[in-house]
Amino acid sequence: MSQAATEAALTSGKDGQFIHFDKVSKRFGDNVVLDDLSFAVGAGERVTLIGPSGSGKTTILRMLMTLMKPDTGTVRVGDDYLFHEERNGSLVDASEAHIRKVRQRITMVFQSFNLFPNMRVLRNVTEAPVHVLGLSKEEAEERALGLLAMVGLDHKIDSYPSQLSGGQQQRVAIARALAMRPDVLLLDEVTSALDPELAAGVLDVLRDVAKTTDVTMLCVTHAMKFARDISHRVLMFCEGKIIEAAPPEQMFDSPDHERTRSFLQSVL
Ligand code: ADP
Repeated sequence: MSQAATEAALTSGKDGQFIHFDKVSKRFGDNVVLDDLSFAVGAGERVTLIGPSGSGKTTILRMLMTLMKPDTGTVRVGDDYLFHEERNGSLVDASEAHIRKVRQRITMVFQSFNLFPNMRVLRNVTEAPVHVLGLSKEEAEERALGLLAMVGLDHKIDSYPSQLSGGQQQRVAIARALAMRPDVLLLDEVTSALDPELAAGVLDVLRDVAKTTDVTMLCVTHAMKFARDISHRVLMFCEGKIIEAAPPEQMFDSPDHERTRSFLQSVL
């Protein structure tokens, strides 16, 4: 694929653009983590971020959660700015209240599950809808029970996280994320702490999510078969840049860059 085609593919969202990164840079000392990066994701689009460790993929997700801020550049979700670079080059953070609002629309599932250990499964899923969205306990429980059925864990609502397998905990974490009815679901290596059989169960749940919802998904994963199944587009990161962007068939079957080829050989 030509450079122009990669550039076109960086902004080929399905239904207009929704998530925008515009000239975003981030460094830690001499380590350039994101290097003048621009790309956009369409509403309802599912995009997988691949690339070697340390290439900046998780940093993208963390910026969308406002857990990390860029040095320069603009990050926007819909009409809402998370970080905004002004003409004079100074970076403006959105206000706290504004960030809270944006974060209600974006949820993230982590590698390490991060369930509340002292709460039973049902409460893990109802907690944020009640306290952040203001749902009644009954509404939140009805929503949670539906989602826990979807992830195959409605028989575990009274268990504590420590009584569940890693795969089950991760399925609860997915239900918990979806209970916020987010516009954007961020998945950060959600199966890398699981053995293959448990990982397969989690990926099946996510395939279902992809099929049955129109949530915009940004997914960092080394599970390439899964990426091929669910993604509309795959972005290949290398040293803080996107070196190739393409639909999964093209990225996996006939990558353009030698660096993409060698990366894929190392993970497939
Ligand atoms: P990836 O997800 O592609 O593996 P990351 O986005 O996690 O890459 O990290 C990119 C780089 O940023 C890594 O080199 C990492 O060491 C560095 N990094 C991330 N967070 C920090 C931090 N808080 N302080 C210093 N370096 C960091």
